[in-house]
Amino acid sequence: MSQTLLKNGRRVVTGQLAASDVLIEDGKIAAVGTNLSANDDATVYDLDNNLITPGLVDIHVHLREPGYTNKETIATGSRAAAHGGFTTIAAMANLKPTCDTPERFHAQEARNVKDGAVKIIQYSPVTKGRAGQKPVDVAAQYAAGARLFSDDGAGIQDASVVYQAMQQLAKYDLPICDHAQDNQLANGGVINDGSVAKKMGLPGMPKISETAQIARNIVIAQATGAHYHVCHVSTKESIELIRHAKQLGINVTCEVTPHHLLLADADIPDDDAEYKMNPPLRSREDQEACLAGLLDGTIDCIATDHAPHTDAEKHRGFLASPNGIVGSETAFALLYTRYVKNGIFTLVELIDWLSGAPKRVFKLEDAGQLAVGDPADIAVFDIDHQTTIKPDQFFSKGHNTPFVGDRVYGASVKTFVDGKLVYDREDTE
Ligand SMILES: [Zn+2]
Repeated sequence: MSQTLLKNGRRVVTGQLAASDVLIEDGKIAAVGTNLSANDDATVYDLDNNLITPGLVDIHVHLREPGYTNKETIATGSRAAAHGGFTTIAAMANLKPTCDTPERFHAQEARNVKDGAVKIIQYSPVTKGRAGQKPVDVAAQYAAGARLFSDDGAGIQDASVVYQAMQQLAKYDLPICDHAQDNQLANGGVINDGSVAKKMGLPGMPKISETAQIARNIVIAQATGAHYHVCHVSTKESIELIRHAKQLGINVTCEVTPHHLLLADADIPDDDAEYKMNPPLRSREDQEACLAGLLDGTIDCIATDHAPHTDAEKHRGFLASPNGIVGSETAFALLYTRYVKNGIFTLVELIDWLSGAPKRVFKLEDAGQLAVGDPADIAVFDIDHQTTIKPDQFFSKGHNTPFVGDRVYGASVKTFVDGKLVYDREDTE
């Protein structure tokens, strides 16, 4: 029996920070409490009063392999996740080729297992080739192990395709995770439609391009009984629709990104594509609605939409740069610093939105909690000292973030997956 003892940490216990140790045996949590002891040959880590949480869960990341390994690989993206305290991540299917057949899905899962520093759940696309024309063979993908389905990166334009897909997915109680975007209404916009777009002379993407498609897909979810999950919700009106749908008992859930909680279009300093993503940063009113929706339970969980690109690609301004920013390595610290330190929400809430909530929404076994018998997936954060966000310290190949130079609390100290140390700050100092 191999033992690892984490000593002198702190954990949230009934809303309060309290001293805590964790004992790990053969990769599983054997005990959580105070003054724990271990065998003489156990590996012991002194956590120096740092915060212990369940390993975080990120239900929305882009790992770019195969097809775009100049931006990220499974190895670098999963190490970035470990550096952010994430121990389970769900990887989107906008790959080349995408994993839309059982053979390709198996091959992708094998790559994820071979190179992943953390646990990776692979999304299947909803449609063949992610082309939005014809649903994948849901039964075959399910048999191959697919449990999450998304064409993320693009909205499915044809309502009948969504209807067919949801009918199939409902049979297996599988979620469709939707990048809600009506391309006609989006009208080639590269930034939120509004005064900032006007001032910068850039084509705006109206909010209704998101909200209208969510409205349509809620109706289809109601008709089919499918679990409809909205990715990266960004507008006040989208959140109002989802709130209403939930009140009607429709099976709808949604996520919000850290950047939509932290920034609005008015924060974009100039034509700097480190602020360009899809959906775009919306108005201050929308940002506040995201926060309110999270606090009142309309928004279920937080997901980063980690979307790495090369520096060269992101240095071409709003018109020519690709969408997306990295998020794995900054999410916890940014949200802790802005919202927990300032008393807007609690540490318990933040940890839950990043672990227990995605576990419940997607019925993930063996992830998102810290209890005896569970796999020892554990994150450790330093919430007492400030650090500076420096992209040259990222494990991700992508350095594309608008948060460069931010001073934050909550840097990651250690991350364990199945009791194995997969990130250790001491190695990088
Ligand atoms: Zn998306």
